[in-house]
Amino acid sequence: MSKCGKCDSDISFMSVLNTPNPFKLKCGSCKAPIALSLVSAGPVAGILLAVISAILWYFYGSEGYWIKVVLPTVLAAEGLYFAAIRLGLVKVKPEQAE
Ligand SMILES: [Zn+2]
Repeated sequence: MSKCGKCDSDISFMSVLNTPNPFKLKCGSCKAPIALSLVSAGPVAGILLAVISAILWYFYGSEGYWIKVVLPTVLAAEGLYFAAIRLGLVKVKPEQAE
């Protein structure tokens, strides 16, 4: 399971949703930075990005594009990414000893 290395709480969907960088999350409870392992997060993020681009390109210019296509697609991708983190497909980088 993927947990915060500092306070041991589960990674929340909000921390995935709120991050500007998909490889660096912030713990929802203690605000500590949580780095994800690039080896495991890279391919997952790459696949999701490819799927998003394909869907967005396919529906580009359709009616209500932003609300009906972009928003749900991005949210679904974030949800899948979150699921991958929770399932341990995307791993948290072990914290370096200080
Ligand atoms: Zn924490």
